[in-house]
Amino acid sequence: MKKFAFMLLLLLFVLVLPEQGHAASGTSKIFLDDKELTAGQDVSVENVNNSIMVPLRMIAENLGYKVDWDQKSKTVTIEQQGKTIKLIVDQTAASVDDKTMILTTAPLLRSDTTLVPIRFIGEQFGLTVKWDNTAKVVNLITPEIPESNNDSGGSTVDGGSGVVVPPTDPTADLTMVNGVSFSENRLSIAMDGSSQPKVSKVSGPDRIVIDLPNATFSDAFGTGQVLDPNLNGKLSVTNYPDVSGVRYSLYSTNPYTVRFVIDLNQAKNYSVDVSGDTSKLVVIDLNAQSTNDTATLPGNSGRKLVVLDAGHGAKDSGAIGVTGKYEKNFNLAVILKAAALLKQENNIDVVLTRSDDTFLELKDRAGMANNLKADLFISVHANSSASSVSSGSETYFQRDASKALANVMHKYLVQATGLSDRGVRYGNFHVIRETTMPAVLLEVGYLSNKGDESLLFTEDLQNKVAAGIVAGIKEYLKL
Ligand SMILES: [Zn+2]
Repeated sequence: MKKFAFMLLLLLFVLVLPEQGHAASGTSKIFLDDKELTAGQDVSVENVNNSIMVPLRMIAENLGYKVDWDQKSKTVTIEQQGKTIKLIVDQTAASVDDKTMILTTAPLLRSDTTLVPIRFIGEQFGLTVKWDNTAKVVNLITPEIPESNNDSGGSTVDGGSGVVVPPTDPTADLTMVNGVSFSENRLSIAMDGSSQPKVSKVSGPDRIVIDLPNATFSDAFGTGQVLDPNLNGKLSVTNYPDVSGVRYSLYSTNPYTVRFVIDLNQAKNYSVDVSGDTSKLVVIDLNAQSTNDTATLPGNSGRKLVVLDAGHGAKDSGAIGVTGKYEKNFNLAVILKAAALLKQENNIDVVLTRSDDTFLELKDRAGMANNLKADLFISVHANSSASSVSSGSETYFQRDASKALANVMHKYLVQATGLSDRGVRYGNFHVIRETTMPAVLLEVGYLSNKGDESLLFTEDLQNKVAAGIVAGIKEYLKL
């Protein structure tokens, strides 16, 4: 069959690509200006409701600040160049000298260590912070030159006074901007909240300005994107001749406004699409004239094509479990079992990004599904946390078009694992961001947790998850 031969060819092509890229590690690390603070130490970094929580004392002391802890009042006091910062465990209100401020997430205590949102560290200590969710690495960078910007600058974050100052109306909930991406000539902004974007065209130079009123950046935004201490940053945009770059900032704190600016090389029309209710996706589409090419492959007689992606491979082991088991092997085992089941389905074709211990770049995984015009893309992973207690199953989506699939797949995933339900989440992962069809990433369980690890490497659990994936696909595709 023609289509099959084409897919096979493509599969072979992808599988023989040379090895390159980086390996991921299973434990969290913190770097300050390229120096690892966590060398030889067991460090706790946690994601709490999209706030990346990092150990305060370790970082403050490495910056040369004095840190005191009062056990009775559970208060951390930091003396920083004449400034006194007080934080109380489990309380979102903090003080800098005599001013009260509200943290996005309350400090929490993990065996003698106080964890605070990475954003607090960045703003309070004037650092650029970056969280790599895949490699579980926190990068802290001390500034070299203070930055000033024009229309994406203007941040009034009060001399890096940290923390989010409560909005003037305390009942008004701020919208949290969780992520941004630019691909296919579209800027996509993911956010939680009711903010209504205001989009305008500006000339001299040509640019499109998107203001999100009553909004700020969530810590999750730092996943993959840089925010400097003044909450400014840039997306690097290449291969789009109309666009020279994308900038963003917390443009104002009174009233709160997040601003994105698409810098254009020439005036350009656009359309704006806002989808979703509380979790929203705002898409600024610069392909205003073009139509979506949804043509199917020749010979496709109504069969659906599913691309299954076993995360990592070869030299990239993925997470390493507590007893040393590799995530890549778990991912592949589940994908092979799911593929075997799907091949028995009359209405579904299945293609695997890898069917053995091969290394593949993320862009090749997404590109493969896009080239095939697949109907669905499902990536299987296992998670890891610095905390050995983290356990359970999560399902990630990045684009709004993937949310319905994520909900269905997650239902079957949780049923299959029987582990705690850690929910359907937004995650800015390459393979689910750069694919053009509904795409989800399953984090089946935590290899850093002893119970999860041993369960995930049982034949029985892998069969159940594979069957769950198939059931989810069939329900979603109404087959
Ligand atoms: Zn993984």
